[in-house]
Amino acid sequence: MSIPNYIPQGQKPAAKGQQLKANSQQLKADSKLHPQKPKGKWHNRRVVFSVVVLSILFITPFVKIGGQPILLLNVLERKFIIFGLFIGPQDYWLFGVMMLTFMVMIVLFTVVFGRLWCGWACPQTVFMEMVFRKIEYAIEGDAGKQKLLDKAPWTADKLFKKALKYSIFLAVSFVIANLLLAYIVGVDELSRIVHEPLEDHIPLFSGIVAFTAIFYFNFAWLREKACTVVCPYGRLQSVLIDRNTITVAYDHERGEMRGKLHKNEIRTNGDCIDCFQCVAVCPTGIDIRNGNQMECVNCTACIDACDAIMEKIDFKKGLIRYTSENEIERKSGKSFGPRVWRYAAVLLLLCGGLVGMIATRSDTQTSFLRTPGSRYIENKDNTVSNLYTFKIFNKTNRTITPTIRLNAPEGTLLFAGSPDLTMQPAGMAEGTVFVTIPKTSLPNRKTVIKMSVYQGDTFLEDFETTFMAPQD
Ligand code: SF4
Ligand code: SF4
Repeated sequence: MSIPNYIPQGQKPAAKGQQLKANSQQLKADSKLHPQKPKGKWHNRRVVFSVVVLSILFITPFVKIGGQPILLLNVLERKFIIFGLFIGPQDYWLFGVMMLTFMVMIVLFTVVFGRLWCGWACPQTVFMEMVFRKIEYAIEGDAGKQKLLDKAPWTADKLFKKALKYSIFLAVSFVIANLLLAYIVGVDELSRIVHEPLEDHIPLFSGIVAFTAIFYFNFAWLREKACTVVCPYGRLQSVLIDRNTITVAYDHERGEMRGKLHKNEIRTNGDCIDCFQCVAVCPTGIDIRNGNQMECVNCTACIDACDAIMEKIDFKKGLIRYTSENEIERKSGKSFGPRVWRYAAVLLLLCGGLVGMIATRSDTQTSFLRTPGSRYIENKDNTVSNLYTFKIFNKTNRTITPTIRLNAPEGTLLFAGSPDLTMQPAGMAEGTVFVTIPKTSLPNRKTVIKMSVYQGDTFLEDFETTFMAPQD
């Protein structure tokens, strides 16, 4: 690689301010960014990691536990399966606590590692940098060729390249839309949509078309602006990261005063030779030397670019590297501030609570209440009856046929009609029932009675309700 902007001896480099101004003007003039193709150790690592991320993304919808998908995010029917745990409309509190735990986890992770997620695992970055950008480089060439092609008149060659690129973009967007739908409705439902007549699945097919258009717009036009303008996570950075956060950072202590490298000079400036290679490869078009910026997605491209320059001019690598502001300034080892320990404590509490909630969660949720306006009935056989209305919610993703049992005190249940209590997944059964208990078991006006829900001999849930009786 040649060193761009290499200034021969005797020639004066442009003043720093002028150079930065020119650079930012050039970036503004290019409404579409043309980052140079990244290459180097960190990029290779990201390629491997992206293959893992993409494999997980595409394989997960097909993985099932006990016939159920391991992950389903059916926002349309408000049903979620997270690592095999079914969360229906009755478990929103559980879903809420899960989301809260996830958010605290993200906050903690961001405080410690900055935007590591953005650069390495976020599907937006993985698809943009490792799929769409690679297709673009393969068809149109590196940044310089892309700029020339954009400026060139519409020849047959340009038309062919642009048509080919955008057709492939559209096809990949269609695949991603199907992938998203597989997470929402499951692969079985998606397969039905594909194999059955289109007119039977107009709403879902419209969803695929709409998501294809959204993904195409995102990856073909919006691109890095999705990270720098749209994504709320990026905007949170300024409040989350601190001087101990490990991010991709420029070592200004070592790099400044930056200045061009001249042949045979005895260098008095810092190690940054102002070659702008770190800017040229940046997919969000920023200059990492201006410090931590909201637009930086920690993609590591500038680390590789700068390391290549350092190697070429025989300087120590790592002028741009994963480090923290404190590490640069104090040359101290990595340390965590008190914020990290506080977030870790909150996360630990939430995880503990979540595990407890999941462990004690029942398969059904029953509401069993005395029918409003009804009184107790005194029977001739020295028993008392109360009339109840009940609702049983199925909190699982399987069919349940429940039975209700009176545990204490002893008594009988007489259902109105012969209700079929069979509940579909996430379904509900309801009815009315007379509970009859011998007077001798009812010493008080109000007695708490204990009941259970079973499926066959399998216990599902315990609950209590009150029983009214005359007071002698
Ligand atoms: S500054 Fe560096 S790490 Fe940040 S987005 Fe640009 S190239 Fe990637
Ligand atoms: S930080 Fe590195 S890549 Fe960027 S201008 Fe300085 S020497 Fe060049």
